[in-house]
Order: sequence, then C-alpha cells, then structure tokens
Amino acid sequence: MGASLAPVWIGLGANQGDCRAHLQFALNGLAGLAVGRVVRSPLYRSAPVGPQDQADFFNAVARFDTVLAPHALLDRLQSLEQARGRVRARRWGPRTLDLDILLYGVQRLDDGRLKIPHPELSRRLFVLRPMADLDPLLEIPGHGTLADLLAACPPLRLDSVSWRSAEPPPHI
Ligand code: AMP
Repeated sequence: MGASLAPVWIGLGANQGDCRAHLQFALNGLAGLAVGRVVRSPLYRSAPVGPQDQADFFNAVARFDTVLAPHALLDRLQSLEQARGRVRARRWGPRTLDLDILLYGVQRLDDGRLKIPHPELSRRLFVLRPMADLDPLLEIPGHGTLADLLAACPPLRLDSVSWRSAEPPPHI
C-alpha cells in the first residue's frame, strides 16, 4: 500500500533580517517536502501581535500535497526554522522564520505537540486573508467556512506587498 497524499496548508512568518529571503528559503524547503507544486499566497505585511517593540511581520501561506505524516512534517518545518537561525527568546517575540501547520487535509489533531487546525488560525487575519486569496470557499475543520472566520476575525492593518525585495521607482 502506498503512502497517502494529504493537502496541507503552512503559515509562513518572519520579522527579522531579510524577511523575504527567509520566506523564499522556506518556500524552497517546502518544495522538497511536496508532491507536485507548492502554491504560495500573496505576501502581507502587518504590525506585530504581542510586544510592539519589534519590526513588522511579513506573512504568507503555502499549499501543497505531501506524503509526510503530521509529526514528520512538523520535524521538517522545525529544521527549516533552525536552518534560518531562529532563536525562540520569548513568546510572540521576533523571529527570523516561523512555520506553522495550519491545516492537514480535514484531519483534527491535538496531542500536546501538535494542534491542527492551528489554534490561532481563526484569530489571525494575516493567515485567513492569504488563505482566502488561494481558496475563498475553503472549510476549516471544526471552525466553519473561511468567509465566516474572516468576518469574525479581529481587525488588523494588513498591507499587501510585493514578493520582490526592491520595488522599482514609479517614475524614472
Ligand atoms: P511557535 O512559537 O509558534 O513556533 O510554536 C512552536 C511550538 O508549537 C512547536 O514546538 C509545536 O510543538 C507547537 N505546535 C502546536 N501546534 C502546531 C502547529 N499546528 N504547527 C506548528 N507548531 C505547532
């Protein structure tokens, strides 16, 4: 019997150093975990949740199919975080790269190390908005539709920004 293929959604975040480079590094790493293509969302920039004495966050989501089981997937995501030099100094503090499993197919899981759907998903506009960009009709297991979650989500200033680091000047 072959391993089964699960559609997964990963949340990507960074707010230290060259954030776009960290996120691009993560996307390249995710390609190595995927069967088929990794689809990335638009990129968003927002004020930090929690301590305000830190830089804005850059966030996106990625969707792909994988044969990795949830815990094996988390191991691989944590390796990618560590490869980018993540130091977990304080909760909700600055990080070079943060990777979360948002959804793993329609599975629900809560075993101490892993909670899926991700417990913060429904309260984070910087996750819900890019998910809706990719699949506005998505259902979140145990939470209802993405549209309903978006309508109920606390507001947040969220700017859509380019994936390319240097924006060309508007006029030469
Ligand atoms: P964070 O500070 O957001 O990187 O949280 C890290 C910890 O959250 C990890 O050590 C995981 O064990 C735990 N965790 C629980 N659920 C998830 C999830 N869905 N995705 C990623 N990490 C999770």
